[in-house]
Amino acid sequence: MIANYGYEDGSGFYYITIDGDVCAECEHHGCVTACPQGVYAIELDDYDDLVAVVTENARKRLRELCSPCKGQNGSGGIQRILPCTSACPRGALRHSW
Ligand code: SF4
Ligand code: SF4
Repeated sequence: MIANYGYEDGSGFYYITIDGDVCAECEHHGCVTACPQGVYAIELDDYDDLVAVVTENARKRLRELCSPCKGQNGSGGIQRILPCTSACPRGALRHSW
């Protein structure tokens, strides 16, 4: 299942999309340890699979939390290689900005 976490405001759309079907097959959960801001956690979903989620605290602060990884502007342009997406070689994670 695809899940979207985040928000939009006057400056843009800040969502992280996670493909839970991919997470269900993941053994190392590298996103959790790779993220310096603690954005991700692992939880059981409705199908009893362990999947990555964006923590409640992070959902409304994604632009701010991710700005050290993305650069000062933190929006627009070509997305940099991020610790979280690098740690997820099967591409379950996507950022909207
Ligand atoms: S987001 Fe990627 S690294 Fe994290 S649990 Fe899912 S598949 Fe694994
Ligand atoms: S961009 Fe950086 S702070 Fe944001 S979720 Fe990925 S690793 Fe964490």
